[in-house]
Amino acid sequence: MGLSIFDLFKIGVGPSSSHTVGPMVAANRFLGELSDKQLLNQVDSIKIDLFGALAMTGSGHATDTAILLGLLGEQPDRLDPDKAPELLRTIKDSGQIHLAGQHPVAFRQEQHLQFHFGQSLPAHPNGMTLTVRDHAGIVLHNNNYYSVGGGFVLDEQEASTAQTRPTSPRTIPYPFDNGRELLQRCEDNNLTIAEVVMANERHLARYPDIEQQILHIWNVMAQCIDRGCAKDGELPGGLHVVRRAHGLHQKLLNRKAHQKDQLELMDWVSLFALAVNEENAMGGRVVTAPTNGAAGVIPAVLAYYVRFVDSGDEQNTVEESIVTFIATAAAIGMLYKKNASISAAEVGCQGEIGVACSMAAGGLCAILGGSPLQIENAAEIGMEHNLGLTCDPVGGLVQVPCIERNTMGAVKAINAARLALIGTGEHRVSLDDVIETMHQTGLDMQDKYKETATGGLAVNVVMC
Ligand code: SF4
Repeated sequence: MGLSIFDLFKIGVGPSSSHTVGPMVAANRFLGELSDKQLLNQVDSIKIDLFGALAMTGSGHATDTAILLGLLGEQPDRLDPDKAPELLRTIKDSGQIHLAGQHPVAFRQEQHLQFHFGQSLPAHPNGMTLTVRDHAGIVLHNNNYYSVGGGFVLDEQEASTAQTRPTSPRTIPYPFDNGRELLQRCEDNNLTIAEVVMANERHLARYPDIEQQILHIWNVMAQCIDRGCAKDGELPGGLHVVRRAHGLHQKLLNRKAHQKDQLELMDWVSLFALAVNEENAMGGRVVTAPTNGAAGVIPAVLAYYVRFVDSGDEQNTVEESIVTFIATAAAIGMLYKKNASISAAEVGCQGEIGVACSMAAGGLCAILGGSPLQIENAAEIGMEHNLGLTCDPVGGLVQVPCIERNTMGAVKAINAARLALIGTGEHRVSLDDVIETMHQTGLDMQDKYKETATGGLAVNVVMC
């Protein structure tokens, strides 16, 4: 199965793709396995074990509640975030969880869900084990799952057969596994990067109308920006972080002519990113792009284009530009997924904000008229200046530095696209070089900077 645009852009819920969306997906896979083996009605007890970064920051990233919701049969793209608290309260008050919404088993968090701090499963830092037993205490079924970033999940067998690095199936029209091959496909066939990806997508046939599904993704992003601008108050989790998007939006709307300056557009870009990531921190509906921690970068850059740059010219409608942006950004995201990682637990925040910045830079460059070489250059610049970025969320929450970091990623992406457009596309460091550098840097990074909240800002900022 080849990577799809819709693997990089998934509708989900906050606050984390690897710690919230992935575990919910894993719980649903486990239910599917029970159902396939016709074991569901024999289950008498369940045990959930969380390891590595899922243990270290699982509480702040809502891993525990995501798994419970998944075991109820809820899925990230369909869950109503407003109903989640009530579902969780019912489990707590009744001391029972209804597996797949049908089969009740006793559940008390302190007994049936364990965070194994300082222990990891072999295949990936984000590991979890789900086990069910019958009334005699005999194990009916268990499996290990690895949440490998961006909501992607592998079970033990998949992880052990080294499917962590997806490659293009040769059956798609324009297979590519690195930036060089992608550019070659464009040159050989006189296609843009977006056209290459859309042709492959039509072959994968995930959706009958791909353009409409992409526009649906954009609508969910735009609604997220609107909700984020409308709400104020404090974010959950005990850090007492106050939402800023609402106040900034009001200020921007009410600015008088003499208060405006030439860089006001930057404030709007920051606003869009803040709005999305404050919604993400609330556990709201977001598009994983390519992760939740970095979910604000791409919507902010695309909203900037739609609102301030699109001229409505007769050559491309705004809808066509949105499709081109998302398809191009997806192509770049696929290169990171294939050759490095989009998991902060593996490579730090380079794999989240860095990748989102690189994708957004390429997408924007494309709709501003960039050639494939210029797009590749923009994506390379977007990552080159995020190399070494660590993941150090204060309190294990996806708030500080995460929310503000999305504003930086978005502004940097716009700058990267503009820099690339100034040039011819000729440049010294290739996108493949920078992806490999990011990967090696991530592997060399100490674990305390990889989503464990044991280094950096996470230990230097006092929670009060
Ligand atoms: S610091 Fe970056 S990688 Fe870590 S949780 Fe925040 S946004 Fe995600």
